[in-house]
Amino acid sequence: MKFPKQKRAAVGSVKARCRSCRKSLILTTVLILSLTLLFTALTWTPAEAAYRTDGYGIFFGDQLVVSTMTEEDALEILEGVKAHYRLENAQVLQMDFQGRVTVEACKIVLQDAKNAEEGLAYVLKHQTSKLTVLSQQKYVQTRELEEGPAYSEDFGDFDVFDKIKAERYTGMLEYSILLTMENDRVVDRDISDKKMILTAEEHTGAKGLAFTEEGQIRFAVSLIPPVPLNVTSAYGESRAETGYHLGVDLYNPGGTPIAAAASGVVTRISGGGSYGNLIIIDHGGGVQTYYSHCRSIGVAMGQTVEAGDYIGTVGNTGRTTGNHLHFELRLNGATLDPMEFL
Ligand SMILES: [Zn+2]
Repeated sequence: MKFPKQKRAAVGSVKARCRSCRKSLILTTVLILSLTLLFTALTWTPAEAAYRTDGYGIFFGDQLVVSTMTEEDALEILEGVKAHYRLENAQVLQMDFQGRVTVEACKIVLQDAKNAEEGLAYVLKHQTSKLTVLSQQKYVQTRELEEGPAYSEDFGDFDVFDKIKAERYTGMLEYSILLTMENDRVVDRDISDKKMILTAEEHTGAKGLAFTEEGQIRFAVSLIPPVPLNVTSAYGESRAETGYHLGVDLYNPGGTPIAAAASGVVTRISGGGSYGNLIIIDHGGGVQTYYSHCRSIGVAMGQTVEAGDYIGTVGNTGRTTGNHLHFELRLNGATLDPMEFL
């Protein structure tokens, strides 16, 4: 009695097994298909791109930036990048890549390999290429100075300048601009080596004046003391007639020889008036020296003298309270403090 039941059960279980068998078959098929698809997806690449060969790479750290077939191409690309950021007419003080940039032999994907020209274009186009050129570049600029007020522009050490009648000069301002750059971006800008170069306009052939980089005036003439420098009245002291003292009074006994302060030509000899006996020597470049209150005059009009030559003696002619040499230095008629140049 049990058997049929068992059989029935067996029959029933076979049926059940078949159902589960069909289910697992579908599951297995789906699984196999999925795996196949996944495998295909993972392993599929274009046939040509998979072709790897020996070449060179430009690396930023350990990141490949661009690959080339030859080392020369890679080096040319790097040089090209630097050249691209070199300013015209500039002096390159320093130029290098930021970080560690190297050219190394390596396996490259043939399709990605670039020649020098392509590689350079690629690097310059892609700012994210990690190749950043850090540089310091300097260039010299000149500009013409305007007349008049331009001369009073902030120029630090050039305080001597306002003593000069500048409008009779043409001038050039020369300076260096030092740029600190990241590729073509200016990170810092510094102006240095300011130099002002003045040329006498009204005296053709004159040497003119030049200023050194330190801002010191470099005169067209250098003066020697015409007499011992015993200053009894300084330049610029207030005076009733002229408002201020146009020269320097150098006390010396009557008859003391006076020397020409620089080489030049005697352009004026006169007597009378407040200057008394006066000698004027023209040194060129608009520079003149005046020797006043002389007792005697030892030169003639138009005479050429050398620095140190005897030209006359100290006296007290003209408006004076005693023996002294009233000595003036003039530039295009404007007086300067002679003591600054002695
Ligand atoms: Zn005087």
